[in-house]
This record gives sequence, structure tokens and C-alpha cells, in this order.
Amino acid sequence: MITIKPFSPSAFVLILLACFVLFACTETNKTAQPIVKEEVYAFGTLVNITLYGLPEAKAYEIIGAVVNDFSYLENVWHPWKAGSLGRVNQLLPTKSAFSTGPGVIQLMTEARKLSRMSDDYFNPAIGALVKLWGFHQDEIPLGPPPSLADIENILKQKPSLDNLDIKGFTVRSNNEAVILDFGGFAKGYAVQQVIDHIKALGATNAIINVGGDLHVIGNKAGQPWRIGIRNPRGQGILASIDVEGSESVFTSGDYERFYEYQGKRYHHILDPQTGFPVQGVSSVTVVHSSPATADAAATALFVAGPVHWRNIAKQMSLHEVMLIDDKGVIYMTPEMQQRIRFEIEPRPKIIVQR
Ligand code: ADP
Ligand code: MG
Repeated sequence: MITIKPFSPSAFVLILLACFVLFACTETNKTAQPIVKEEVYAFGTLVNITLYGLPEAKAYEIIGAVVNDFSYLENVWHPWKAGSLGRVNQLLPTKSAFSTGPGVIQLMTEARKLSRMSDDYFNPAIGALVKLWGFHQDEIPLGPPPSLADIENILKQKPSLDNLDIKGFTVRSNNEAVILDFGGFAKGYAVQQVIDHIKALGATNAIINVGGDLHVIGNKAGQPWRIGIRNPRGQGILASIDVEGSESVFTSGDYERFYEYQGKRYHHILDPQTGFPVQGVSSVTVVHSSPATADAAATALFVAGPVHWRNIAKQMSLHEVMLIDDKGVIYMTPEMQQRIRFEIEPRPKIIVQR
């Protein structure tokens, strides 16, 4: 039997409190926009910005800042257009000392550190080779591939970031074949700068996704962000991974920019030792706390390939790595295996290597 009692004074206070809390939540929901997403075009690709838990006006203020940052950095770091890096590329082959801005100096210094750690598999000094293959421009080249003699001519000069003497804001190259191309690094380095900026503006939960390469901060209502990793052969998602806190997921793939000439695929990631597009690898995914490192590392391990990737990963202090070869065989670290969930059947052949 149910007896209905009149409210006691303390119960009345509790109900009042509950009403107040309920009212307060409703108010918050009225003024706050939990998720704001925006898609813009920058760095030659689509940039998706996701912000969680900020009032709408604040979220749009941050999105405006992100758009400005990307368009500024894209101009400054473009290797061929008139901008800071374009000027550097005009002056380097003169082999005379010249000054440039602190932003470009920092970009070169950071890239050189990662280049050395990768044994120059990641080598942004091969801009002349990237240009020879036609991958320096926004449009995909049609072929034919360059001549062996032209490739050899660049290779024999062994361009490397170690050819640069950087003192303060002054740079001098001792190798006229050095042309800088940060296509394998600028996205990650830009994401790093943008993340620092949006954190300073008050964002604590966000994803900055540049053409599928991304960095997350925080989480979504206490849950990690779930990220899909593209299947390098075929459509859709190969696997997913939960990320939160401050983590990047960067992938280098042979499907991003390529052309076919007389039945053969030529893609945009070049082996600095052979001068040709890397053979035998479809994609490499790296998870790391730094987007700049993740970007350089994905390129480096792609070039290192199934035989050398483990050594280079150790040298670069990488823990979460997945490499997929051109036959679909998946190589990964135990740390990656623990986190990744495959979304396709049948599951591909997987080799876990420490
Ligand atoms: P994705 O475009 O798939 O994200 P990457 O981050 O690996 O791939 O960037 C590829 C770009 O990096 C190329 O378009 C070229 O500009 C440049 N690049 C090509 N080969 C190398 C290399 N061995 N080291 C450094 N940069 C490279
Ligand atoms: Mg890269």
C-alpha cells in the first residue's frame, strides 16, 4: 500500500534545490552549443574543426582564428609561391648567407632534428626531386616520369638538411641541390601551432583534422574521440582508434597524390636514396602526442618500408605505428595492436613487431 505523506520541511528544501539545479542545466543548454563543426579549405585540402562544450559565439571566434592561422601559414610555408619559404628556396642555391624570419628558422630546425632521427628517410631537402616528379604543384601531374639522368643528377649531390648552416636568423647552404619542401611536415607543424593557439583562446576539447590527419585535445563529454583509419585499398574505414587528451593520428598514403603512366602507379612519397616513389608500401599511420613528429614520422616510416620501419620507429621514440604493405599485410607495434579495432572482415594478415 502506498501512503502519501505531506512534504517535510527538509524534503521541501531538497525539491527546491532540485528545481534550481534543473533550471540551471536548462539555462546552460540554452546558451551553450556542445558541438560546433566547421569545414574550410586550406593547405590544399579540407580542414575540419570540431569544438566541444563551448558557447557558440566563442566556438566561432576560435574557428575564425584557426582559418586565419592556416591561411597565413600556408602562404609563408609554400615552397614555390612568393612567401618566406619561396624566398629561402630562391636564395639557398646561391650558397651565400642570408637572413629569414624566426618562424621559418624554427620550421627548418625542427624538421632537421626529425630528419636526423629518421636517418634522412624523412628528407625535406629533396624539393628539387619533388619538383622533377611534378608533385610540387597543386595539380596532379600526368607523367611521363622524369628521366633517369635527371634523377641521378640530383641524387649524386645528396641534398640534406645537414647542408644548412643555421646561426640565429641567418642561413647558408653548402649544397646547391638543397631545395626545401615541407609537404611531408608542414601540415603537422601547422596543426601544432594552431592547437597551441586554440588552447590559449580557451578550447579544451577539440579536433583539428587536416585532410584526414588530425590532432585531438580533451574528449567529448568524458568519452574519447573515435577516429577512423582509411582503408588504403578500397573504400571506407579499415580500423578505428579512440584518442583523447593530446594525441595526433597521421597517415601517409600512396593513394593521396599519384598518377598512372603506361599502367604503372607513381605517387608522391619519394625514396631519397633511389629518387623514385617508394615501392611496396600503401600506408603508414602514427599516433603520437606531437602532430609535427607524427607527420614527419609517417613519411619517414613509409620510406623505411617493411624491413627498416622498426629501427627508425625506435630511433624516433615512436610507440604506436601501423604499416600496410602493397599486398595488404599489416605490420604494427604491440602498443598499436592494443588500441586499434579492425572494422573489416575478413581481418587482414597482421604481424606484430616489438
Ligand atoms: P600525405 O600527403 O599522404 O599526408 P606525407 O605527409 O608523407 O603524405 O607528405 C608527402 C609529401 O612530402 C610529398 O608530396 C612531398 O611534398 C614530400 N615528400 C616526398 N617524399 C619525401 C621524403 N622522403 N621526405 C620528406 N618529404 C617528402
Ligand atoms: Mg608526413
